[in-house]
Amino acid sequence: MDASLNAVIEKKINRTIGNLQNNKMDAYYVKTCKDAVNLIDQLCAEGKSVAVGGSMTLFECGIIDYLRSGKYQFFDRYAPGVDVGKVFRQAFFCDTFFTSSNAITEQGELYNVDGNGNRVAAMIFGPKSVIVVAGYNKIVADLEAARRRVSDIAAPANAMRLDKKTPCKVLGACQNCRSDDRICADYVIHGQQTAKGRIKVIIVGEQLGY
Ligand code: SF4
Repeated sequence: MDASLNAVIEKKINRTIGNLQNNKMDAYYVKTCKDAVNLIDQLCAEGKSVAVGGSMTLFECGIIDYLRSGKYQFFDRYAPGVDVGKVFRQAFFCDTFFTSSNAITEQGELYNVDGNGNRVAAMIFGPKSVIVVAGYNKIVADLEAARRRVSDIAAPANAMRLDKKTPCKVLGACQNCRSDDRICADYVIHGQQTAKGRIKVIIVGEQLGY
């Protein structure tokens, strides 16, 4: 990448990390997915119970494979034949919950929109620790840009991936639909936290997820 562009992106990442820390979240920057897995190895001790929210980033970053390595007690929502509803509930009692975020603002907020609500619910309360892994492409200027990111990119892409019968799947942008297949139900801003360090955000210097 061009050095000047790289410098701009690094400053944006550093601003975001500082403001996540101001909001009482631990925040880290790593250059690669491999570095992210190595950091998780330090943050999450062997034998701990772990679960994940739905996330393409966790697959792309190699974290799902890492959690399946046998090092952890993994409540794996993607395992064949699994009772997904049961795994969603087990996630509330796990030691560490892994997820990405639909957007991260430079003011240090996480912004997420869920269909089921299981992911945002576990981020808010339940698991002792929450590790958020996100590519730098998830960073946006503010909450308005975060809302636009979800309606213009994340939700339409997820609707396509999940083959939902929604207008955003056809048009590639949110139409605020009333479809029975609508995937947007719960709109959550994670701002300054009360449990300092419970949420740990790892920003990766690669483009990941939607
Ligand atoms: S509200 Fe409907 S159209 Fe808009 S992103 Fe969600 S599912 Fe798509």
